[in-house]
Amino acid sequence: PASMFYSEEFRCTVGHGYLRLCLNKRRETLGFPDYAPPKSATDALASVANSSNPMLHQYTRGYGHPRLVNALAKLYTTELQNPIDPMKNILISNGAYMCLYSAIHSLVDEGDEVVIIEPFFDCYEPMVRSAGGQPVFVPLRPSADDRSTTQNQRHRSAQDWRWDAEQLRAAFTPRTKMLIMNTPNNPIGKVFDSDELKLLAELCCKHDVLCLSDEVYEWLVYPGHRHRRIATLPGMWERTITVGSAGKTFSATGWKLGWSIGPEELIKHLQVVHRNCCYTCPTPSQEAVGIALEAELERRGTPECYFNALPTELLSKRDRLAELVESAGLPVYLPAGGYFMIVDISSLPEPPPATGSPDDPLGELRDARLVRWLTRERQLATIPCSCFYGQADRHLGENFIRLCFIKEDETIEQFGRGLLNWL
Ligand code: PMP
Repeated sequence: PASMFYSEEFRCTVGHGYLRLCLNKRRETLGFPDYAPPKSATDALASVANSSNPMLHQYTRGYGHPRLVNALAKLYTTELQNPIDPMKNILISNGAYMCLYSAIHSLVDEGDEVVIIEPFFDCYEPMVRSAGGQPVFVPLRPSADDRSTTQNQRHRSAQDWRWDAEQLRAAFTPRTKMLIMNTPNNPIGKVFDSDELKLLAELCCKHDVLCLSDEVYEWLVYPGHRHRRIATLPGMWERTITVGSAGKTFSATGWKLGWSIGPEELIKHLQVVHRNCCYTCPTPSQEAVGIALEAELERRGTPECYFNALPTELLSKRDRLAELVESAGLPVYLPAGGYFMIVDISSLPEPPPATGSPDDPLGELRDARLVRWLTRERQLATIPCSCFYGQADRHLGENFIRLCFIKEDETIEQFGRGLLNWL
């Protein structure tokens, strides 16, 4: 098992891969689509493969292939309400993952504090630590009212996970260099509302802090909610790096292309790390994403535009999965965005103890024990939420597991049936 070759800090990430290997495909709810990307995107990739232009198979501009950065500049000039220069304000890297790495490793220095909102995408902490920074965690917690909501009442909502504003304010000190935030959030599916973003922006401006805004699920927002971009708030453009992902945008996580957008003064530092880590990203997939984005720009605002079609398609999957899980007696937090859903497992009996074996990448906490047991004994794959917290707060995740609903309808049904048979 790959996890053996990693320190404890990295084991959870590797654990995802470990679980995936032992599964019956149809019952896994791990974080990627199990169906094809839109035809417009796959056709674009095919057209590049068959193109008579040999240069599409050779190295391209290191900081981003021209066709792709030009399309992104058009798109984000509107989104960020700021004129985006394709050559100066954008860096294309190896997935949003490498964008995050370049930003953290170029902007965080030894001893800098970095405020991270929990639960968080699990690479933030090791990236900050490996840059010499000190993470300072501020948890979102489900409201007490929500926890008492019973199965027959309204669904609980991901929006009801909130931070303690005093704790958040206190997390910002003269040593704070950066805030890392993620909206729509993985794993809970919360979309930060305008008051929450205003508070974050106020704190960043007051303490002169940079903001790394991970917005990879930017197009996946469900009715009644709106994705707002912190870079558009007063005083924020000049201190914010907005991160997006082609893998999430076109349901093609294996394409591994991401973008960082921000002021030239910040992007130029990310470019140094990128240049010395990967130098350039694959030309064919950049050209294909450029073509696919051009097509979406043409049909922007129509229901056919993939940015609108995908959330429409996922809405019924979200609701069906919530219905199946709740009919098995487990409350869910209905996400406002993204493609993950949190399930409350606190009412379940105590899962078996951890094996303590070195090939066991998960820990002793309740969620981890349940996930391991579900995987091995019931062939149901889920993710334990404690791995989305820093060490000190890990217990906050132990009554929750994460499901993913960007899956074929049949996968969702089989997962639901597996759950019902078990409970
Ligand atoms: N940020 C978040 C919140 C994610 O969920 C993911 C992928 N699961 C990433 C970044 C990384 O995206 P990519 O695949 O483009 O590297």
